[in-house]
Amino acid sequence: MWNYSFAVQSTFILGIILVFYFSLPRLSIRMNRTFVFMLITQSAVIFFDVVSSWADNNYSLMTSSVLYFLNSVYFILFYIRAYASYVFTANVFRVDLILDKVKANLMLIPLAVSILMVASTPWTGIIYTIDAKGYHTGPFYDVLYIISYFYLAASFITMLIYRDNIKKRRYWYSMLLFNAIILAGIICRRAFPTLLLMDTFYLMCVIDVYLTFQNPEFYLDLKGSVFNSSAFRDYIEENNGLLAHRLLGVAIHNYHEMRDIYGATKLDEGIGMIARYLSVTFPSCNVFYYGRGRFMILGPSDMAYEECTAMINKMFDKPWTEENMELYLEVGYVTADLTGKLNSTDAFFNALLLGFSEAERKDDRIPVVVSDVQMAENENEVSVKRALEAAIEGDRVEVFLQPIVDAGTEKVAGAEALCRVRDSKGDLIPPGLFIPIAEKNGRINQLGEQVFEKTCRFVSENDISKLGISWINVNLSPMQFMKPDLAERYEAVIKRYGIDPKVIHLEITEEAMVDDVFLRRQMQAMQHRGFMFVLDDYGVGYSNLTRVKKCSFINVKFDMSIIRDYCKEPDEILPNMILTFKHMNYGVTAEGVETEEMAKMLKDVGCDYLQGYYYSRPLPMSDFAQKYSTF
Ligand code: C2E
Ligand code: MG
Ligand code: MG
Repeated sequence: MWNYSFAVQSTFILGIILVFYFSLPRLSIRMNRTFVFMLITQSAVIFFDVVSSWADNNYSLMTSSVLYFLNSVYFILFYIRAYASYVFTANVFRVDLILDKVKANLMLIPLAVSILMVASTPWTGIIYTIDAKGYHTGPFYDVLYIISYFYLAASFITMLIYRDNIKKRRYWYSMLLFNAIILAGIICRRAFPTLLLMDTFYLMCVIDVYLTFQNPEFYLDLKGSVFNSSAFRDYIEENNGLLAHRLLGVAIHNYHEMRDIYGATKLDEGIGMIARYLSVTFPSCNVFYYGRGRFMILGPSDMAYEECTAMINKMFDKPWTEENMELYLEVGYVTADLTGKLNSTDAFFNALLLGFSEAERKDDRIPVVVSDVQMAENENEVSVKRALEAAIEGDRVEVFLQPIVDAGTEKVAGAEALCRVRDSKGDLIPPGLFIPIAEKNGRINQLGEQVFEKTCRFVSENDISKLGISWINVNLSPMQFMKPDLAERYEAVIKRYGIDPKVIHLEITEEAMVDDVFLRRQMQAMQHRGFMFVLDDYGVGYSNLTRVKKCSFINVKFDMSIIRDYCKEPDEILPNMILTFKHMNYGVTAEGVETEEMAKMLKDVGCDYLQGYYYSRPLPMSDFAQKYSTF
């Protein structure tokens, strides 16, 4: 009755996959575990498919209870296999079945009901019956198809809803193929029920998955002896907050120098030896190679650092030798306790890398501790960086305007453009946090240009004289100031908006004034195009009056720390400095004017302009336009 030749061949192929899969170290992550679940159910289904079909063909040799047992086990395994392929799909798409217990249990209900139906079959005969003429299908035999279609539909829906959870496009196509093969299998089984074709189709699925993401070698490094850095990332991301771990990082000092001294081949062999030593010495831990001579031993939360480092130290006290090779290597350590949930695993990886760089510089082999505080700081920095990137890329850097008032009339005369970036919740991040980051990673150029452009747009779209202002100051960071093409770029923007460059005053700090020759050339190039300069934050850092004298600023802004000091304890220094600048024909602005009393004192010493919370905080451009509009 049954022809099981397809199934028997599939068994051999599956056997080869099993041998390959289980002969290499496997990372204990959920996707791998669900793959093992799928492999085991698949093997069991094929086995029982062949055995029960053979028994059904030879029913006269069997007792009916043996036939009932074999067929029932086969049906149950068949249903479980349909469920297993859904679980695998759900895991690839990172639907957290483990965390969302309710959803997981709901998806088990159809499986449980169908298993109960099979279990009742010896008495009810609903799925199949066995009589003197052998095996016959029962009235509810089609449950087999219903279950298969149900889990297949669930897989397709998962693929659609969670399509963005997948890392690579290729994975999506692979899962599409996976589920399409199952669909084809079900259709063929229905068309040719006696051929046991379904096992062959499922085998194709297993091969598809193995080739796309289950080959254990994707996660292995150094000839398969340890896991690689993607394994480390995936493991940490998946177990974040679920398992407590202690981590010991082992770093070879001067990796690149050692590569030059010993040659790449020899050093790689040495690294391989260390990898094998670590995985043999710490069999209960996962050992990862992070590249550049850095290893990671991930153990239980009570792993004894001191004992581990003492053991490893002994190995590094003597050379690593093999045949005609002797490598003298020095080592450093990093430790971290992973107990709670990390908000950002990226921040953790960054903190760890910083820890490694420090460990590689230290001579004492005392572990560098990557603490929660560092991770939190890094987390903050990472989230600020993200917000900054998103704002720059999405043209969402906001510009606020703070009025600068004429000290004589107390009327608004100009404004300063100050940039603002929002975090993911929409709250403002202070520039003090993101400007240093933007300066470090070079993004300050795009950031500054966006502020400049938005300010120019504001000027072109609003008649600023009706707002009572004749200029807007825009900050120019030292790094931007150093760019040789700054003058052309800014001129192009000015021309695009058809505005007068005299309306925009550029604020630079003394930090931008390190190279005298370049400074003068750059300022002349800008001034030639009509831009004017203001010296910002005067009085902090290395103030150098001789240099300031050589440059033609139109205005000097005294930093608020100096203003505050003077208002608290008036002396002769500030008034004299102001006098000096006025002799040089520079206008003088006081920053950080917070009270009426401060405003009066600063007027008395001859400041021309005042800026501060006493007059107004920086306002969004539209609020500024509304507040100062004279109509
Ligand atoms: P800054 O150029 O010296 O700007 C003045 C800062 O003082 C602004 O801080 C302003 O909000 C604040 N301020 C004004 N009045 C008062 C006051 O009465 N009391 C107090 N406590 N503070 C007052 P903000 O906006 O946080 O900006 C900080 C710094 O970030 C700026 O200092 C500037 O160096 C930089 N920055 C802001 N926007 C940009 C930009 O577009 N490009 C560049 N390169 N740097 C910028
Ligand atoms: Mg400024
Ligand atoms: Mg300032």
